[in-house]
Amino acid sequence: MGCAEEVGADVVQLHLSAPRVWRDPKQRADAEALRDAALVVSAHAPYLCNPASADPVVRERTTRSLQVTLDEAARCGARGVVVHAGHAAGGGTMDDALARWVEVARPLRSDVALLIENTAAGTTAPGRHLQDIARLFATLRDADLDVPLGACFDTCHAWAGDPLTATNPAGYVAAFAEATGGIDLLHVNDSKDEAGAGRDRHTNLGTGRMGLDVLEAMVTTAARLGTPAAIVETPSDDGGHADDIARIRSWLPAPDRAAVR
Ligand SMILES: [Zn+2]
Repeated sequence: MGCAEEVGADVVQLHLSAPRVWRDPKQRADAEALRDAALVVSAHAPYLCNPASADPVVRERTTRSLQVTLDEAARCGARGVVVHAGHAAGGGTMDDALARWVEVARPLRSDVALLIENTAAGTTAPGRHLQDIARLFATLRDADLDVPLGACFDTCHAWAGDPLTATNPAGYVAAFAEATGGIDLLHVNDSKDEAGAGRDRHTNLGTGRMGLDVLEAMVTTAARLGTPAAIVETPSDDGGHADDIARIRSWLPAPDRAAVR
C-alpha cells in the first residue's frame, strides 16, 4: 500500500489470485491492514471467468472462482469483486448467455457485491451494448440472487465497445447508469483504439484515441450520478498512474472530490 500512497491513490484494486490462470487466492497477509486502511478496496476476478460461456466446465470454474474471490475480498474488507460480463464463447444466443449467467451466479453467497463490468469486444457479449446490459441486470435482479449486484463502468471498454460513446459520452454514461441501477465503480482508462473498434487496449489518459474531452465528460457525469470510487488501469511507468489520478481529480469540482476518491 506504500505504493498506493506514493501515487496519491486512495482506492486500490487487487487481483487476489493470478488473473490469467484458474487458481484459488492465497490468503493475503495484509488483509487486516487493508481492512483498516483509509482506502476503498475492490478486487478483480480472474480474466478467465466467463459466466456466459457455452462450456459447462468454464461456467463451473467461474462460479467457484467468484465464490473464493468474494470470500477473500470479504476478509480484506473489499467493497466489491469486479467481473467482466463475458461472452457466449462456444456458441449460443444472447438469451443463452443470460440464462448461463443466472446459472453461474445462483450458487454464490456473499455480502460483498459482484460488480459487473462492461466489455469492449465480442458479438454475443451481454456487457457490450446498452440494451444487452439492461437485459443482463434485469435478468439477474429478477433471479433474486444471494449476492448483491453492482456495476463497474470502464471508459475504455465503453468507447471501444460502442461508437455511440464518441458522439455523446455523457449521455452514454447516464444511459448505462439507468440500465444498471447506478455505477458503483469507475475504471478510467484511455483506449489505444477507435470508438467501436471492439478491442480492449488501455492506455494513459490523453495518450490514446478517446480525447480528454470525452474522458472528462464520462468522469464528471459518473461523479454527478454519485459514483463513489474511480480506479485507473493504465500503464504505471514514468509516473503514469500519478499523472492520470491528478488529471481525474482536476476534473472534479471540490464537493465531488469526496465522492470520487
Ligand atoms: Zn476495467
